[in-house]
Amino acid sequence: MNTPFHNWVLLELGGSSSQSVVWDASSNDWSFQSGILRDPERKTALACPGLIRGKQVWYASNLGWPEQADPSHELGIEQIEIVTNDASAAALGEAYLRNPNQLPELYFIGLGSGVGSAAVVNGAIVEWNLGHAQIGGDASCAGCRAHGCLNAYLEARALPKPIDGQTLQFIAETLAQGMVVAGSDPERLVVLAGGISRQYPELAERLAKLIPNSVEASKAPAAAKSAAYAGLAYLVHQQS
Ligand SMILES: [Zn+2]
Repeated sequence: MNTPFHNWVLLELGGSSSQSVVWDASSNDWSFQSGILRDPERKTALACPGLIRGKQVWYASNLGWPEQADPSHELGIEQIEIVTNDASAAALGEAYLRNPNQLPELYFIGLGSGVGSAAVVNGAIVEWNLGHAQIGGDASCAGCRAHGCLNAYLEARALPKPIDGQTLQFIAETLAQGMVVAGSDPERLVVLAGGISRQYPELAERLAKLIPNSVEASKAPAAAKSAAYAGLAYLVHQQS
């Protein structure tokens, strides 16, 4: 049986790794492959860092792309039909993995190379700028170039290694502070995702103690880089 996904590659690009996800008809399940799959027989749905305008990607500096980039050109892939921001795709994916028939409302926080954030409201992505919320101080953000931006404190390279309990508490407190600045509905679920959140599940518990919202870890399967593939699947499904 053909699903709406059989002729698609769902591609997630990141600063540290990329993943291609295709529907495997024989196992009737997703197949997760590391790297960039270039299959001229398939269309591509792309999730990547940066600001998306149409199918152009701006400011994806951690991919090594120019300020304004055409992903088809950068990747050497012709049929890129869907382009979306990685945090937006992951937010949508977290909602889709919780209830594909009626997407629950949620805030998504992804702690990776940078801090990604987005909200899902009424079944659609809404901008929620926690990642670049102004929390004060001198730290300079490589993404938005502002001083005192949350991302400047919590992007991967700004954090000490290894991450100890004190650092986890700092991350939780900084996120809680950012949520006040970014504005947030206390009733809405917060999903904490990304490499650091996966590695340190207690981070979600620490954050839950500091904010009125419920906090859950990502529902992305272990093989997935993030829930972005599920968000892309949702967008493909909507298009078909
Ligand atoms: Zn910033």
